[in-house]
Amino acid sequence: MSEDLKTCSKDLRPATLLVHQGRDRDPFTGAATVPIYTASTYHQPGGQGGAYDYARSGNPSREQVEDAIALLEGGTAGFAYASGMAAIAGSLALLESGDHLLASADLYGGSFRYLSSVLPRQGIAVDFVDTTDGARVAEAIRPETRAIFIETPSNPLFRITSLQEMVTLAQTHDLLTFLDNTFMTPLLLRPLELGIDVVIHSATKFLGGHSDLLAGLAVTADPELARGLKYYQNAAGNVLAPFDAFMLSRGIKTLKVRLEAAQTSAATLAERLLDHPAIEEVLYPGLAGFPQRERHFAQASGPGAVLSFVLRDPAQVGDLLQRIRLPIIAPSLGGVETILTHCWSMSHAAVPEAVKRNIGLSPGLLRLSVGIEDVEDLWLDLAQALEV
Ligand code: PLP
Repeated sequence: MSEDLKTCSKDLRPATLLVHQGRDRDPFTGAATVPIYTASTYHQPGGQGGAYDYARSGNPSREQVEDAIALLEGGTAGFAYASGMAAIAGSLALLESGDHLLASADLYGGSFRYLSSVLPRQGIAVDFVDTTDGARVAEAIRPETRAIFIETPSNPLFRITSLQEMVTLAQTHDLLTFLDNTFMTPLLLRPLELGIDVVIHSATKFLGGHSDLLAGLAVTADPELARGLKYYQNAAGNVLAPFDAFMLSRGIKTLKVRLEAAQTSAATLAERLLDHPAIEEVLYPGLAGFPQRERHFAQASGPGAVLSFVLRDPAQVGDLLQRIRLPIIAPSLGGVETILTHCWSMSHAAVPEAVKRNIGLSPGLLRLSVGIEDVEDLWLDLAQALEV
């Protein structure tokens, strides 16, 4: 981005920020894309340090996406990691041994695994609570509680947590708030503006958008937290590689057109699935009858492009996965191609069966991340795969 553009970036609309990001040309050559800087170390003339010294501490390709996510989320500092889980680990490194963390009971399986098995080994106690119920969260707060970790909508049950409620509780009890914004992206939900302290993304999903990279991002508007995040990122070497940073920057440019197209198709498929005799329930905030619709739209500007549906007969899952042709059957979401996930055995395989049943995740649930194919082709394929 030219210096002129940089000074007015706060006034630019999302589609423009997505394309131009924080840097949209190489300052040395004018090239239309920031080069992939592969160097691990940087010459320091006369022994004097310049803007860069060692790639773990700073790399222009990585900084491009770090600046981009800061601009897009309305934060002041962004950090890029090797994966979404690495971003979660890097963000939760702000906690210390002896701290207590509260987390949404219904979380992505990998997040559940990290919070339930790794953090306790580092002396951080974690309790999973229903964050959709502010009273339960308030009851679970202890003197040593330091933070709340939230997903909304939750993955894959689409439970909606009121961020305003969590932020108010956090302010009252002096807690930090972490929000995984992977499902919504900064286009549909702007958590920092609602008072959340650290926003996290699995950029592997919608931000990258093409199922061709693994990346994570974190962003904050608080300078003190930014210092802590930077310190850990550098100290642990938990960084995104330059080639992946380039791929991510390229993906981010088309987020708006991809997400809007996919969201429109998701809404159509959700309505049609709802009327299908083989389907017991469709979970999608865009449906008129979605129980927490009002709460979702009080804080987000769209329903997103992911939905879940529950088959009346869970034994039919195997047949459906055999018959479906267009979606890839895989544990991911947010790509240009439609992705169908059997959460019980894929994205939430790491969650013990009793916990899955307890939160209401059933073996008959399938998650559909709608891509940008023609919606009629997707529907015909789903309809034929659902035929009993
Ligand atoms: N958060 C959510 C909501 C996810 O769905 C995922 C992955 O599926 C992650 C975090 C972890 O991201 P990654 O796979 O990039 O490590």
